[in-house]
Amino acid sequence: MRYDLLIAGGGPVGLYAAILAATHGMKVAIAEPKAGVIDKACGEGLMPAAVAALLAVGVAPAHQPFEGIRYIDSNRTAEGRFSRGVGWGVRRLALHSALMERAFDLGVQTERTAVHTIDAQPEGIRAAGIEARWLFAADGLHSPLRKHLGLQLPARFPRRYGIRRHFVIAPWSSFVEVHWSEQAEAYVTPVSDREVGVAFLFDDRLKGASSEPPFERLMAAFPALQERLRGTDVGSTVRGAGPFEQRTLHQASGRTLLIGDAAGYLDPITGEGLRLGFEAASLALECIEAGNPAAYNLLWPRAYRRYWWMTAGLLTLRRSPLRKVMLPALQHVPGLFTAAVNALGAEPPPKRQRLLRTPI
Ligand SMILES: Cc1cc2nc3c(=O)[nH]c(=O)nc-3n(C[C@H](O)[C@H](O)[C@H](O)COP(=O)(O)OP(=O)(O)OC[C@H]3O[C@@H](n4cnc5c(N)ncnc54)[C@H](O)[C@@H]3O)c2cc1C
Repeated sequence: MRYDLLIAGGGPVGLYAAILAATHGMKVAIAEPKAGVIDKACGEGLMPAAVAALLAVGVAPAHQPFEGIRYIDSNRTAEGRFSRGVGWGVRRLALHSALMERAFDLGVQTERTAVHTIDAQPEGIRAAGIEARWLFAADGLHSPLRKHLGLQLPARFPRRYGIRRHFVIAPWSSFVEVHWSEQAEAYVTPVSDREVGVAFLFDDRLKGASSEPPFERLMAAFPALQERLRGTDVGSTVRGAGPFEQRTLHQASGRTLLIGDAAGYLDPITGEGLRLGFEAASLALECIEAGNPAAYNLLWPRAYRRYWWMTAGLLTLRRSPLRKVMLPALQHVPGLFTAAVNALGAEPPPKRQRLLRTPI
């Protein structure tokens, strides 16, 4: 085989997996159709566990630290501070560039091509003309390979979408601020000492029949934020993504393992996509090193369980009349919010050694 591992998709999770595998001595190639440093709609807040994962593989992009999450509605705030470590606000371009550089230094090959089909080989796979023992599909939220493998399941929640833009202004808070309104949430992430990112998350009711709602219309739902940013220069174009929810039947099929958003995703409401993607990449690698890819079908749901339940709970609360009591409750029991914030990104590694040794 030409490579030990082929990774379809050179986004942050594909690159992270490539770096990890290369540091384990594997010969790795990435197939990515887009050239250069890739931008994408994202809230750009890395939880402490994601920061630790990056540092562990020698990746440290330019960043602005933040010390927790602050929820804000028209007249209340509640905040949860990280008890261990800090989060990083990182521009997607900075993150992608740092990951690419590290992968290049480790000898990871990049082929500028898309992968749409997979041919099984006696000891591996062949995809886009490249032969490898294993394939990781890291081809994003709308993963063509997940569909090709017949692993896509229908969504359960109403569709939600996101758009983001940057503003050239010194951060006014050392927290990621989450502003709540009836229709949407606005995430404000400090990404440098002179710039913040604003990402809106919203559902079908605001999307309209054909096009995304303009950034300005969403901003108008947050008068205090709008006032603070009035007259500020913009630092990027508007980018959108969605619908978010992607459910999968399972996450490994033969010698192909889905990682990152391709493996399944619910919503960015807890700001956890990258932390989970890095964890999944590491689990997938352990499974192929143990020669037991099917174990990933048990380990992935365990790693994502807490995220899935917390996110589903928040989305349900979001649409119910109880939404109005959420902030007062968090404000009156501050320990509750701190515990929730520290539960995000603090998933202990599942006990997996026994599973990895057991052929499934
Ligand atoms: C509005 C919004 C806010 C968010 N906020 C946060 C946050 O604050 N913190 C956080 O941690 N996460 C956040 N997320 C989630 C986070 O952005 C994702 O979890 C993360 O981008 C997933 O990375 P990935 O590498 O799996 O996928 P992607 O970044 O989507 O990369 C997939 C790559 O695959 C390539 N590709 C596509 N098709 C093919 C193919 N056929 N063959 C080969 N390659 C292909 C694409 O070109 C792309 O480069 C947010 C997401 C959104 C939309």
